[in-house]
Amino acid sequence: MKAIRRFTVRPVLPAPLQPLSDLARNLRWSWHTETRELFEAVDPASWRAADGDPVGLLGSVSAARLAELAGDSSFLDRLTAAAADLDTYLRGDRWYQQRDAEGAELPAAVGYFSPEFGVTAALPQYSGGLGILAGDHLKAASDLGVPLIGVGLLYRHGYFRQSLSRDGWQQEQYPVLDPNELPLTLLREEDGTPVQVVLSLPGRRSLRAGVWLAQVGRVPLLMLDSDVEENGPGERDVTDRLYGGGSEHRLLQEMLLGIGGVRAVRAYCRLTGHPAPEVFHTNEGHAGFLGLERIRELVDTGLGFEAALEAVRAGTVFTTHTPVPAGIDRFDRELVARHFGEDGELPGVAAERVLGLGMESYPGGEPNLFNMAVMGLRLAQRANGVSTLHGAVSREMFAGLWPGFDPEEVPITSVTNGVHAPTWVAPEIARLGEGPPDATLSPAVPDADLWDVRRLLREQLVTEVRKRLRASWLQRGAQAAELGWIDGVLDPDVLTIGFARRVPSYKRLTLMLRDRDRLTDLLLDPERPVQIVVAGKAHPADDGGKRLVRELVRFADDPRVRHRIVFLPDYGMGMARKLYPGCDVWLNNPLRPLEACGTSGMKAALNGCLNLSVLDGWWDEWFEPDFGWAIPTADGATTDENRRDELEANALYALIEDRVAPRFYDRGPDGLPERWIEMVRSTLVTLGPKVLAGRMVREYVERLYEPAAHAHRALDAATATELASWKYRTRTLWPYVSVDHVEAVSATGAGGTAELGSTLSLRVQAGLGELRPDDVEVQAVAGRVGPDDTLVDARTFPLKPSDGPDPEGRWVYEGPLALDRTGPYGYTVRVLPAHPLLATSADLGLVALPTEATGEGAGVLLR
Ligand SMILES: *Cc1c(COP(=O)(O)O)cnc(C)c1O
Repeated sequence: MKAIRRFTVRPVLPAPLQPLSDLARNLRWSWHTETRELFEAVDPASWRAADGDPVGLLGSVSAARLAELAGDSSFLDRLTAAAADLDTYLRGDRWYQQRDAEGAELPAAVGYFSPEFGVTAALPQYSGGLGILAGDHLKAASDLGVPLIGVGLLYRHGYFRQSLSRDGWQQEQYPVLDPNELPLTLLREEDGTPVQVVLSLPGRRSLRAGVWLAQVGRVPLLMLDSDVEENGPGERDVTDRLYGGGSEHRLLQEMLLGIGGVRAVRAYCRLTGHPAPEVFHTNEGHAGFLGLERIRELVDTGLGFEAALEAVRAGTVFTTHTPVPAGIDRFDRELVARHFGEDGELPGVAAERVLGLGMESYPGGEPNLFNMAVMGLRLAQRANGVSTLHGAVSREMFAGLWPGFDPEEVPITSVTNGVHAPTWVAPEIARLGEGPPDATLSPAVPDADLWDVRRLLREQLVTEVRKRLRASWLQRGAQAAELGWIDGVLDPDVLTIGFARRVPSYKRLTLMLRDRDRLTDLLLDPERPVQIVVAGKAHPADDGGKRLVRELVRFADDPRVRHRIVFLPDYGMGMARKLYPGCDVWLNNPLRPLEACGTSGMKAALNGCLNLSVLDGWWDEWFEPDFGWAIPTADGATTDENRRDELEANALYALIEDRVAPRFYDRGPDGLPERWIEMVRSTLVTLGPKVLAGRMVREYVERLYEPAAHAHRALDAATATELASWKYRTRTLWPYVSVDHVEAVSATGAGGTAELGSTLSLRVQAGLGELRPDDVEVQAVAGRVGPDDTLVDARTFPLKPSDGPDPEGRWVYEGPLALDRTGPYGYTVRVLPAHPLLATSADLGLVALPTEATGEGAGVLLR
């Protein structure tokens, strides 16, 4: 029988236990071990049954047990202490307030928008790394006191739950999440009615959404939910699933996230008195429409579109996360045009303007597609990739938007991702040393203690794996009686390798299966065996990924090896927290350079797990032989993917055989692997502090939020209008700007040679048309030259204008050029737009270079 209606009966806590409810509703418990232990003490069995979810626990614990606790003075003492601790955490001044007091002009608040948030397994609103990074960003911001407001969607089915069919094919389940059973509260108007944001859709329809609030320590997270009665059935389903549905469905989700998200922030600030964000940060392109809504707000106050765009751009930060062009969200132009047309959203902002922002108007672009990353870059004055390597790859990838500039000059910087130590460090490791938030290990901890903890964590993982494997086999249709072998799966003393991540093809889940005999030999080695734990979800629409999962599952099902390799279904944060600490080695073998950063290896490192990884993402930046091993790659050397996989797989096997396993099993007289422990120690002490989300958030504040707030403040209505009209004029007049003649006078240097330390005097004639020297900067660009005369590692030298134009209206620019490097050297000259409010001189994407003819003399090679 099915119920015709469902509702949630909330537990009534006895008055002395009331603080438990506050502790459950602030997600800080998800990274505060003592609070979690307190909940566990309420009722250990219910705590386990609720999968460590306090709201679930309080809903299931018996009234008798609650009454008992209400009279248990030692429990009440712990409860009072935990409540006081949370209170202190929520109030005190932190890093951000101190910086502010020291005179930094920080933004009053920052809006942080993301399509997914992975805060805890109890709020399953993430699919993988992007969401978990967003969750860690909020938590670290909370720890640092950064006044962030998170904005996302509440998906009624979250992502999917994964299980396996008997023959290893991925099955997807979409359990319904009831917000009343989640750690959320509904945002309400002062009169108690729920806040709703409303978007207009074509055909006089509208899309409404309620706003749920999750409290992440000090940081509010607003989640929009279209499942409200006032919506038609189609609109109700807009927030049904994460990354489900077709193009139109995704567009509506993204309009709700971006446009509805800004409206939700306005409502939240109005109702709570929270300061309004001065900076908006969009985590990947999905939330990019937030810029349009903010332009609409300004246009409504009477500002012109271009001026509003300037004001909005100044206060926007865009983070790109994918180096795979296919990974970028793109929509049919017509679809976007329809939703921003006459009866669509954002009256006052013409559809043509919207389209202009997202069109791929550069060589090789698709004329009929609307690209969310392109719009993200055009709407944000500051943009970044997520590791040093990914920054460089992104500058190449988007160079088409800044024609005339070398990729190095493309204004996309990088902030390398980090992970939130208190969330990801096992309590056993934290208690060994000083623990989070510094995640450093005191040198006083003896080797034996460190190794004991590592073994304990491995053993806990073995127990967890057996439990999950048994559940999976029962689910796959096996009988309990045939599962006795599971008690012998994995060994707490065997070198344990972990590999878990989503299953897009570039991550190469099955690279390890390339030579099955060789892998089998590694697993079954009589002296130095290895065991491997694998997990990962394929996107529901990705049959290729599901085939990879099946391949791996079938291999792991083989009775010859099944005690040494397992595939665990339903990878998520709950599993991840057990997996990283329990592994000795974390394996990562993407196709370089397609892993923008990767964060699972960082979480593993914080627990003393060593990395074995291709030099991609963060590992390319921070790899040291003391922290693990670099798998050699064949990128560039061969373009044949098959050959490349073979070379890299062989390198991987060889590393495990010759380096990793011997080191793990090389024991001293005391039974300890001395060199291994040394590497664990280096990883914890030296690598640990770099990979922290706190370091990442501080970088965002100092390098991006703070300058964005300044830029935004500088652009009041009048200044923004002035800047917009200066840009318009500069763009219009730019075709008349030219470098007409370049002369170099060298002290020495006949015949194309010059001496180190000497100086060239440059004299340039530049035509500026109707522009004035104030509108431009004329630069010499000089550096080493490659064989085809391209400049590498170039530096720029500003040149000074003469007092007035010559009779033909040309301006003469002069300046010295110091020859500070030996070898092939060259230079050129260029004119760029200049204005004090531009973040970079590439901002407009305009540049004038010498033509072939005037280039005579410029680009002289000095050998
Ligand atoms: C950290 C994490 C990820 C991201 O891992 P990558 O190394 O970036 O692929 C994905 N899923 C879960 C559950 C995680 O905890």
